[in-house]
Amino acid sequence: MTAPLGHQGINARSLPGLSWSGSPYGMSLNHKILSLAVLMGLVIGVLYYYLYMHQPFWFQCPVKTTSDRPKSMIRYHEFRLVAPENLAYKQPSIVHGRSDVVTVTPWLAPIVWEGTFQPALLDGIFKPRNITIAATVFAVGKYIRFLKDFLETAEQHFFVGFNVHIYVFTDQQDQVPYVKMAAGRKLELCSVPSSNRWQEISARRMELIQVLIEEKLQNNVEYIFCLDVDSKFHGRWGTESLGGLVAVVHPGYYRDDRSRFPYERRPQSRAYVAPGEGDFYYCGGAFGGLLKEVHQLAKTCRTNFEEDAKKGIEANWQEESHLNRYMWINKPSKVLSPEYLWQDFKPRNPEVGIIRFSGVIKNYAEIRPNA
Ligand code: UDP
Ligand code: MN
Repeated sequence: MTAPLGHQGINARSLPGLSWSGSPYGMSLNHKILSLAVLMGLVIGVLYYYLYMHQPFWFQCPVKTTSDRPKSMIRYHEFRLVAPENLAYKQPSIVHGRSDVVTVTPWLAPIVWEGTFQPALLDGIFKPRNITIAATVFAVGKYIRFLKDFLETAEQHFFVGFNVHIYVFTDQQDQVPYVKMAAGRKLELCSVPSSNRWQEISARRMELIQVLIEEKLQNNVEYIFCLDVDSKFHGRWGTESLGGLVAVVHPGYYRDDRSRFPYERRPQSRAYVAPGEGDFYYCGGAFGGLLKEVHQLAKTCRTNFEEDAKKGIEANWQEESHLNRYMWINKPSKVLSPEYLWQDFKPRNPEVGIIRFSGVIKNYAEIRPNA
């Protein structure tokens, strides 16, 4: 019988002049140090997880970790405007440009007018990000008749070449016209109850937009625009309109003094704007921005509308009044000129170089469910 191998040969420990470099278990010093380091790494890793990520009840992390921050902070696309290489475009100038209109607000948000941007450059910046833009449109009751033109013209002018998801809220799904859509574009139907008060249809949009964002759009789209159906596109509406919170200046009041703006003037209403306050009068028929921003807007306007209703108040221009109140406090990061929502009955003013989107002429008495 031979002895087991381990018991044979010379043990390094017993050799004179050699320091200890082995163990009874056959592990070298290097191995030991390595195991110790791995063990310590593991301990530190576990501790880090529990202290910063897991946060047990006895530990209150004083600093917010990245995962606590609102997602929009990370997804704020406009903060990094990476242009494609080799893109040729007209040299910009800081001394020549539109001089007939104001192109920046006092809080330094751009005011988008024709001639202030270069479409190819903006498209070049946004195209590689593969963004998706949602649009909501309500077609309830007789307003379903406007849907075909809205959808067909959107196909020709609204974010052409981008991923666009249009959400149609209607009480008559079977009446929704078929409109051929390009690749990357789709239409989804959402059912809403009919109502015999147009004010309610109009005002409930905020609630439905809030719910749509919460239940369907999160993680699927980056931007959203909420648009009136009784309108048509006539010109480009594209990447130049993208921003955190985006509002459109109403075509009916943009040359007027703020005292003439039809804000809600009763202090009891949550839509109240005091005399001497207000920047611009914005449209209820078009607004948008990053999903997170529009969610906040819709939620706030909905809550305020409902608070008013409990007190028996309805703001004079329903959600448009609440939107204006919201935008007075939460300044839009991009303002779209009245090019982005004109009214067909209004002759075009000289500063409006192009009408991109415009409300059609309609017979209110005939189209609305109530006077
Ligand atoms: N709306 C609707 N059915 C109605 C009333 C309103 O679908 O009976 C929706 C529709 O999308 C419309 C929007 O609410 O574009 C706002 O109403 P409207 O266009 O009549 O308001 P205006 O632009 O005339 O102020
Ligand atoms: Mn309208």
